Amino acid sequence: MKKRQVVMVRRDASASDNNNNNNNNNVVKYGECLKNHAANSGGYAVDGCREFMASAAEGTTGALTCAACGCHRNFHRRKELAAPSRQNIWET
Ligand SMILES: [Zn+2]
Repeated sequence: MKKRQVVMVRRDASASDNNNNNNNNNVVKYGECLKNHAANSGGYAVDGCREFMASAAEGTTGALTCAACGCHRNFHRRKELAAPSRQNIWET
């Protein structure tokens, strides 16, 4: 019996992505970049990137890097869109 060690450098947002992918059809989109590029100087300035675009295919490290601004996906606003589904678990 072999034990397989899976090393994942992920933050909570990504982990819950996985659950969503497995358990339901929620679509997760990443909106504007919120990274503060002026943090060093005590100011606040974002790069103006409006939407996360993966710089490489899903499953590679580049998939977590924005092709437009180069920031990690976690800097982008996370938008969870409930996909239309037959079981409406969100509303009564
Ligand atoms: Zn950015």
